[in-house]
Amino acid sequence: MKKMVVIGAGPGGLAAAMMLASKGYDVDLYEKQSYIGGRNASIEAEGYTFDMGPTFLSMVHIAEEIFQSSGKNLHDYVDLIEIEEMYQLIFDDATINMTRNERDMINRLNEIVPGEGDGYKKFMDDTRKKMNALTPILQSKMDRFYHYLRWRVVKALPQLTVSKSLYDVLSTYFNDERMKLAFTFQSKYLGMSPWECPGAFSILSYMEHEYGIYHPKGGVNQLSKGMAKAFEELGGKIHLSKGVKKLLLEGKTVTGVELETGEKVLADEVIINGDFAHVMTNLVDDGVLKKYSKKKLKKKKYSCSTFMIYVGLDKKHDLPHHTIVFANNYKRNVEEITKTLTMPEDPSIYIQNASVTDPTLAPEGHSALYILAPVPSNLSQIDWETQKEKFRELVFKTIQEKTEFKDIEKHIQVEKIITPKNWEEDILVYEGATFNLGHQLTQMMVLRPHNEFEELKKCWLVGGGTHPGSGLPTILESARITTNAIEKQNKHSVKTVNLPVDLGDAK
Ligand SMILES: Cc1cc2nc3c(=O)[nH]c(=O)nc-3n(C[C@H](O)[C@H](O)[C@H](O)COP(=O)(O)OP(=O)(O)OC[C@H]3O[C@@H](n4cnc5c(N)ncnc54)[C@H](O)[C@@H]3O)c2cc1C
Repeated sequence: MKKMVVIGAGPGGLAAAMMLASKGYDVDLYEKQSYIGGRNASIEAEGYTFDMGPTFLSMVHIAEEIFQSSGKNLHDYVDLIEIEEMYQLIFDDATINMTRNERDMINRLNEIVPGEGDGYKKFMDDTRKKMNALTPILQSKMDRFYHYLRWRVVKALPQLTVSKSLYDVLSTYFNDERMKLAFTFQSKYLGMSPWECPGAFSILSYMEHEYGIYHPKGGVNQLSKGMAKAFEELGGKIHLSKGVKKLLLEGKTVTGVELETGEKVLADEVIINGDFAHVMTNLVDDGVLKKYSKKKLKKKKYSCSTFMIYVGLDKKHDLPHHTIVFANNYKRNVEEITKTLTMPEDPSIYIQNASVTDPTLAPEGHSALYILAPVPSNLSQIDWETQKEKFRELVFKTIQEKTEFKDIEKHIQVEKIITPKNWEEDILVYEGATFNLGHQLTQMMVLRPHNEFEELKKCWLVGGGTHPGSGLPTILESARITTNAIEKQNKHSVKTVNLPVDLGDAK
């Protein structure tokens, strides 16, 4: 059987490795860190467990399909809990508890502004059609311009709403500013502004309301851990603390990898999961790449970054699992992090209080809080060494003033901070842009780095830097697209299983 090397044990790399191993390939996965999961890893300290990155798991049926196509059952690896009260949104003059129960959601919106509930119903109905039309694009290899001419893609193109931003699209459903933000803030998952993000991404909030948001017991990191376990059961080998120093090349063909230890590993195909721009600037010699040379990569658009605080508290907070606090002037805040690249004056903040749902995450009577404030990427030149403490204080002050999470600082037992500098230097994310290359239309589909990497032969991409983009469901799709394409080249039969969403199973 062909020998495959996967670089990186993030969710994209693990999903591809698991699917390839299940098809009989001889797969070795090399990971630079001593842990599994990449940005989807866990952080553990003194009895507390935090997710490092992803905390929202949606479109569970995609993960179910990926496991099923590997002959496995997701639910044997991950114990999912649905978060029915999905998240609490805190504005300066209102609090909205978002639910996927349609009747309750309509009532709650109408209570705040009569009539806005109708906008919700219409949004869901219209976006359901949009999602159905766009799904073939999200599930197909999109690396030739003629792929736009496939009939199912042609049909979907109007749904990309090319001429409208996400904010414009939602403004056709809601009049109230807070409602518009309640259904557009999800562009932050891509590190983008709702005023810039393509209208097609209205599917993000739709996905949450249609398919729900899940918390795997132990954290979202359990998804990566589950894939790693399944991969090893299928005969795959994971090599931790074994960073890849460079790609081995014969001309433009990748023949294997050289590890940081100096060892050379030959392979028939190499699948790259490490952050795209980081890998291309560090693992490939200057002069080899044209389209994605260091100079050209510098000019691409990147997502924002995130300032993270993980705190273990000796106090239980009986508050929502997910809380989002909006800056009073949200538009200005979004501009600070995506355009002017300046330090946020009044940050928006996301708080995950997962131990309220999942007692395994903290000692009894304690809480494990994950606090995220979007900030500019390192293109901002902000010196986080000198700014870190000041910004941490601002985040705690904002939480104290605007939420019911009071006196956090008095109860801290354990604390860890990740700044954009750490994302770049320790977690190997180019410019600390945590959500990868931006998702502007100029960097999507055919214009995004291709799953079958266009600059090198025998080289494939998976993860948030390739098509269809950042976010766990799309990252899993990238792994499926890449695996299917490898299979096709190897003339195996390829079958995409489409399971119905079975929420009963998932609970
Ligand atoms: C703070 C944060 C919150 C997020 N929240 C959500 C969310 O709620 N829901 C959601 O769907 N998505 C979310 N995301 C986005 C996305 O799901 C995650 O970032 C995801 O982990 C990205 O997966 P990936 O496979 O692209 O790569 P990564 O997770 O980055 O994994 C890449 C791996 O490659 C390794 N690597 C790099 N270079 C080398 C090398 N030279 N040799 C060997 N190994 C190497 C890295 O160490 C890493 O383990 C979030 C991201 C962040 C950062």
